[in-house]
Amino acid sequence: MPLPIRITFLGTAGSAPTKERNLPSVAIEYDGSTYLFDCGEGTQRQMSTYSLNPYRIKGIFITHIHGDHVIGLAGLVRTLALTKRTEPLYLFVPKGEESKVMPLLTFDRALISYKIIIKGVKSGEIFKGKGFSVMAFKLKHSIPTYGFAFKEDDRYRFDKEKSKRLGLKGDAFSKLVSRGSIKIRNKTIQLKDVAEKVMGRKVVYAADTRPAQTTIEAAKDAEILIHETTYTDEFRNLAKERLHSTAAEGATVAKNAKAKRLIIFHMSARYKSAEPLIKEAKKVFKNTTQAYDGMQITI
Ligand SMILES: [Zn+2]
Ligand SMILES: [Zn+2]
Repeated sequence: MPLPIRITFLGTAGSAPTKERNLPSVAIEYDGSTYLFDCGEGTQRQMSTYSLNPYRIKGIFITHIHGDHVIGLAGLVRTLALTKRTEPLYLFVPKGEESKVMPLLTFDRALISYKIIIKGVKSGEIFKGKGFSVMAFKLKHSIPTYGFAFKEDDRYRFDKEKSKRLGLKGDAFSKLVSRGSIKIRNKTIQLKDVAEKVMGRKVVYAADTRPAQTTIEAAKDAEILIHETTYTDEFRNLAKERLHSTAAEGATVAKNAKAKRLIIFHMSARYKSAEPLIKEAKKVFKNTTQAYDGMQITI
């Protein structure tokens, strides 16, 4: 049975927080560890509000170093040191921006009890965990920005009857998966003849960005695409100028990617309600939800 992937929206506003919405951060919990995608100001408090244990954070993936996505790191890394954490923390930022996040970690000469391993992100696989990997893909924004795909490893579902008949047992299964074929009783067994490939589930996070072909490719057949939609269509020129997306643009990306579900977030503070955004997005892609702070989805 696949492990649950639990997604918690810790912050769903864009640029400035409101009473109801904090700045961007999305947590993915998988197999006892937590991975944060962006870390807007106040993220650690949001974790406490929604009962997420910050000490379980293994990696933080920063899309870009605009303040609304990164300033929460300053407090969070210090809190993690209060319990004398020793486990290293992986921090991913776009390549070339590594030195720019350093002041947030060091300006007060805080004593950090653990290692913060900063990795410069480029397109491709950037993190490999047990049973999953994280891929980065380039986004279109005013500074270097990457989206992330959290992808479970593909698995093989074996036909029990056939496997038994052919004498497959013990480590023969894993050998067959890694080699593609093995010999048993002088007979060559092909993986494809006894097992069916089950694609791993994929959750894709894209902020801040104009609609991008790279997102469509990364989100192909994704269970969930989380895409920023800062504006309604009325402000489409502003979206272009500031390199953000409108609700309809985010929905078009989901549609073209054939994603199963779209969650929109990073709403401009000018909107009192998400209604106009969700309405416009649903016209293009029906299975759309507007994220709110504290929203949880388990797949
Ligand atoms: Zn932003
Ligand atoms: Zn930005």
